[in-house]
Amino acid sequence: MPKYVYRFSEGDKDQKDLLGGKGANLAEMTRLGLPVPPGFTITTDACRAYLADGTVPDELAVQVTTALREMEEELGRQLGAPEDPLLVSVRSGAKFSMPGMMETVLNIGLNDESVLGLAEASSDARFAWDSYRRLIQMFGKTVLDIDGDHFSERLDAKKAERGVTLDYELDVEALKELVAEYKSVVLEYAGIEFPQDPRAQLDMATEAVFRSWNTERAHIYRRREKIPHDLGTAVNVCTMVFGNMGETSGTGVCFTRDPSTGRSGVYGDYLVNAQGEDVVAGIRNTLSLADLKTLDRTSYDELRSAMRRLETHYRDLCDIEFTIERGKLWLLQTRVGKRTAAAAFRVATQLVDEKLITMDEALTRVTGDQLTQLMFPQFEHTGDNEVLTRAMPASPGAAVGHIAFDNAEAIARTEAGESVILVRRETNPDDLPGMVVAAGVLTARGGKTSHAAVVARGMGKTCVCGADQLEVDAAARTVRVAGRDDLVLTSEDVIAIDGQTGEVFLGEVPVSDSPVMTYLRRGLEEALDAAGNVDTRELVTSVDRLMRHADKVRRLQVRANADTPDDARHAIHRGAEGVGLCRTEHMFLGERKQFVQNLILASTEEERDNALAALLPLQKGDFIQMFETMNGKPMTVRLIDPPLHEFLPDLTELSVKVALDRERGTLDPADEELLAVVRRSHEANPMLGLRGVRLLLTMPGLIELQVRAIAEAAVERLKAGGDPHPEIMIPLVGSVRELQIARERAEAVLREVSGESGYKLDFPIGCMIELPRAAVSADTIAEEADFFSFGTNDLTQTTWGFSRDDVEGVFFKEYLDYGVFGVSPFETVDERGVGRMVRLGVEHGRATKPNLKMGVCGEHGGDPESIDFFHRVGLTYVSCSPFRVPVARLEAGRAAIFYPSSQED
Ligand code: PEP
Ligand code: MG
Repeated sequence: MPKYVYRFSEGDKDQKDLLGGKGANLAEMTRLGLPVPPGFTITTDACRAYLADGTVPDELAVQVTTALREMEEELGRQLGAPEDPLLVSVRSGAKFSMPGMMETVLNIGLNDESVLGLAEASSDARFAWDSYRRLIQMFGKTVLDIDGDHFSERLDAKKAERGVTLDYELDVEALKELVAEYKSVVLEYAGIEFPQDPRAQLDMATEAVFRSWNTERAHIYRRREKIPHDLGTAVNVCTMVFGNMGETSGTGVCFTRDPSTGRSGVYGDYLVNAQGEDVVAGIRNTLSLADLKTLDRTSYDELRSAMRRLETHYRDLCDIEFTIERGKLWLLQTRVGKRTAAAAFRVATQLVDEKLITMDEALTRVTGDQLTQLMFPQFEHTGDNEVLTRAMPASPGAAVGHIAFDNAEAIARTEAGESVILVRRETNPDDLPGMVVAAGVLTARGGKTSHAAVVARGMGKTCVCGADQLEVDAAARTVRVAGRDDLVLTSEDVIAIDGQTGEVFLGEVPVSDSPVMTYLRRGLEEALDAAGNVDTRELVTSVDRLMRHADKVRRLQVRANADTPDDARHAIHRGAEGVGLCRTEHMFLGERKQFVQNLILASTEEERDNALAALLPLQKGDFIQMFETMNGKPMTVRLIDPPLHEFLPDLTELSVKVALDRERGTLDPADEELLAVVRRSHEANPMLGLRGVRLLLTMPGLIELQVRAIAEAAVERLKAGGDPHPEIMIPLVGSVRELQIARERAEAVLREVSGESGYKLDFPIGCMIELPRAAVSADTIAEEADFFSFGTNDLTQTTWGFSRDDVEGVFFKEYLDYGVFGVSPFETVDERGVGRMVRLGVEHGRATKPNLKMGVCGEHGGDPESIDFFHRVGLTYVSCSPFRVPVARLEAGRAAIFYPSSQED
């Protein structure tokens, strides 16, 4: 019989697939002997079985009973018993943390009888009735899908009636009344009595957690975080311990290092006399851990020692949720903590310096996505902008935009092309859609562990929180600033938020390079000189150390896709080792379009030669500049790829013009002729039409023009003492014969120019592999190729049989929802389909030529996950946009550590 239930003492931290992250870590802490309340985990297998069948597997009930009885025996108490009842929490916990996405129900086991037993056992009737009303509220909302407002309205009314403002100021009688009212809410809106059977509560809560895997907000979160939809969640059932048992109790969250800077020390929030969700919701302002030290030295010391133990054990920054129940510390959760990108780099090298991890491991602790975040620009502090307030810097970056007060506004305005900052009093999981689209998030309440802060950090979105000087009135759509009665901000106003300093500015603020960008552009010394403080210097140094280590260990070379000298320069500054794709189509655009038209319209050889002759010096000039920039480094020049009609006027526009001119009697015969050509060259599916090598072979003089321009430019550079390394690349090859013809014609030109100039010009000639036919016949194509470059853009289009322009905006959202793909195949290479094509191409190609150089130049060349694949499949290099070059270097280094044995040969 499948094992669906694991006691905390049975699992360990490596069982995240089965027990979820939270369950696996609870098990690990239990194994370490840390104070974890007893409990058990229901596996993700059980959830998946539930999601597949719509019912809980039969074995589960039996196994839960066994685990529960063992727990009851261990504690000497029984779930929901009338005397001294055992109460449990039920929490979701998937493999990947999804903060605030799924459900939690606390105080399971309370009913009309056991509430009295709890009152007696705790000698605190107020606490017992408060726990009961919390259970009904959470259960009603989470398990019975009752709108939470029905409960909070009753709570607010009760506080108003009693003349108090805070929840804990309600007395026992008020809470008893509230429990009765809540029960009637349940009856009214769910049509059932609030279940009195503790086991029924437990089972219903478990099922609700399973169901919560498929809520819309969980789907959105997973899509964004690229978490597969089929993992399911585990359910953790844990003995309740109470942070709301008076002044010697409390609950908190702490980090072993600062999750926003990486600085080592004690960071956390603590709330006296409160339950866990009070901290995360950011409803009350919290104390710091230093305050806890003065309040309860024993628990503080015990917590500090647990923190150190966990950090040493996990050899990483951990975050920990804890509760102190009447002076006794309990650990409720730990995990390797989410952190900002800057903290990730700093913590990684700090741990190396503390000899807790090696440089190789450090490289696995940072990601290309984090590096990307650090490359984002920052505000330029000119002092011109009014600082509205300074609050908690919760997630870094610089965001500017109009104020948006809710999801609907944020979505509508971003769709209309505006940048918005989502401004809320505090956020909760319902605000996720707005957070996803907004440039940044600003909240008036909550600390570094509030929902807004945790979720924004996870998304890499700029966030400032706890701006308590701001009064956000979402209903009136206004923001007022304390002490500034004259100022009322509305959706019309632009604000800027700084995720590093916590500053909120009024109006647009100009942005400049981040320190990491300064480092990447100008090197370590200049970046250190420019760094304003120790933290920035440490960050830049960490990035430098890790980048250098990545360069040392990586096997993949990194090149850039660059068509202009400017792009090429940027790429070199960021560490590119060559150009992997110089698209030459732009050389036919602008004023040169006229020559291309002349070429297409040419009816005699002379006319054609004239058009080509006009283009030659222009293209040669372009190549000279590129070779000069790339001096000494390889540069793959791809001959023209798009269909020629892209260089002709638009069919509809020209048809209208010709029709109008004809009517007016002003028709130019040349226009009529042009229209005939445009009509003739119009294609139903241009992506699959006369382009690439097909065009090069059928349009007389085109290959010769381009190869001559390359060769003559190279000669010019050689004469000037330069060191040009062109590689000539033929696009869209499907058959070896195509490449053979193109090659012969290119070689003939090279020989000619060689003869004319006296320089030896034996440049490599290769082709793109971007059609399935090319991939599957790569063994024969390799006979004529000096190198391959996989064009995964076209290879994705042609393997799937859809064109990017036609499908991406049309049905990809539905396909992602259906799970046809977890992420767009244009973003991350589809390993099972397109990836297999690449693999075939590599294997066949190398079967013919074992040392054949192979790269990739589709956009996937800069995508972290795809780079990992390209490493594993044994490519020689990836080529990506200049901005992505550092990311590719880092990811190539990481791939080499994760897959050390993946060698080219
Ligand atoms: C490709 O197809 O992957 C490629 C790099 O070529 P292009 O995007 O220019 O078609
Ligand atoms: Mg292509």
